[in-house]
Amino acid sequence: LEQTIRFHAGWCRMTDSQFAPPSPLIEVQNLCVDYKIRSGGLHKSIRAVDCFSMRIARGEIVALVGESGCGKSTTGRALARLVRPSNGAILFSGIDISHLPERRLRVHRSKIQMVFQHPGPALNPRVLIWRSIAEPLEAIGVKSEDCRLRVDAILQKVGLPAQAGQRYSHELSGGQLQRVAIARALVGRPDFVVADEPLSSLDLSVQAQIMVLLKELQEEFGTSLLFITHDLAAAEYLSNRIAVMYLSKLVECAPAQEFSRRALHPYSKALLDSIPLMDPGLERNRHVEPLPGEVPSPLNPPTGCRFHTRCPLADERCRREEPMMRKVSDEHEIACWRV
Ligand code: ADP
Ligand code: MG
Repeated sequence: LEQTIRFHAGWCRMTDSQFAPPSPLIEVQNLCVDYKIRSGGLHKSIRAVDCFSMRIARGEIVALVGESGCGKSTTGRALARLVRPSNGAILFSGIDISHLPERRLRVHRSKIQMVFQHPGPALNPRVLIWRSIAEPLEAIGVKSEDCRLRVDAILQKVGLPAQAGQRYSHELSGGQLQRVAIARALVGRPDFVVADEPLSSLDLSVQAQIMVLLKELQEEFGTSLLFITHDLAAAEYLSNRIAVMYLSKLVECAPAQEFSRRALHPYSKALLDSIPLMDPGLERNRHVEPLPGEVPSPLNPPTGCRFHTRCPLADERCRREEPMMRKVSDEHEIACWRV
């Protein structure tokens, strides 16, 4: 991956004036997703994702972080077209899939896969594991002998013995099931995988193994990955870029290393402060000021900057006007009036 990036960087410098840079695999433009709900006997609408824009390059890992309920899963599900956007565009290899009918979406389905927090429910308990993994291949018409070979190969790659294919899902541990889910997602060589909290249901030691596995496989397959997590340490380890959401909106996006060293948005800084230090002694003596208040309801978001009700820097303008995402350097964007 590094070599490819260096090659592209060199290529872009050489040809800067003549050609545009390579187009991204995914380009999301002003994506909005609304849910209809009933609240107090009335029909209402929640905007779970509000004007979300982002580009994801081929082979890039973007981590999407933020507190529970901020719209991460809805964003991921919209990109995989498991929920229908209300507005905006999702360009996948240049084609807008945001409003394609199911019949025309079928061609793209195999190229975009999802890995969920709980792998169990996605696997049919009455079907042998190898069959579950083969399903995406069968859906695109791969012959059964080829399916078997490819399933055996991917089982090996995700670190499972070939015999695991002859088991049922209830016979495997949580970590093994997540390996099966990853195998199933990658077996058809997709261009893009959305992994929604893939570590959250696992024990700590298994989390580390699955994280290393995801990184190795992503490097080998060159798949683009949207890694949804509320664990910033995992995001820093795994991703090239980190994007932070707050109350349905993107508030900051930066290369992972830069984010760790120089996150700018007050909300991102609060998230970083909440990561415990590795050294228990230092952690004990550290004083972290928690963010005041609760996350407001997306049914009735605050005016102006949505974070102003909890932000230590907020002033009158923040209460009144909504900040848009703007560049502070080449790849670093934030939505904040005070930075
Ligand atoms: P996250 O993954 O960051 O926890 P979600 O995308 O799951 O956030 O949820 C974003 C908002 O949308 C939350 O307020 C949540 O309650 C709401 N929401 C999510 N799914 C649904 C649904 N199927 N119907 C109604 N509201 C939903
Ligand atoms: Mg979620």
